[in-house]
Amino acid sequence: MAAARREPQRTCIGCREVAGKRQFVRIVRAAEGGLAIESRGERLAGRGAYLHNSRICWERALEGATIGRALRMSPNSADIEGLRRHLDTIPVSSAEEA
Ligand SMILES: [Zn+2]
Repeated sequence: MAAARREPQRTCIGCREVAGKRQFVRIVRAAEGGLAIESRGERLAGRGAYLHNSRICWERALEGATIGRALRMSPNSADIEGLRRHLDTIPVSSAEEA
């Protein structure tokens, strides 16, 4: 389903699929260090990476150094912990038709 309305395109760092940015959750490298996950409607400053709100994409991104590479940082264990907490909130059956 190609949407008629235009929106900025972003790449999911989990599956590398390109889609409109509203379909993604944005992870931001905060200026004071650490990672933040943007809530809907929020606009955090800092370098960001995009992920579908799907467990597969988050699990892939949490494997290896994907997030660190995308954000050009080395996430510490608290950062990873925060991301895993978000992953736990994603319903298992969030297989949305893209
Ligand atoms: Zn994805």
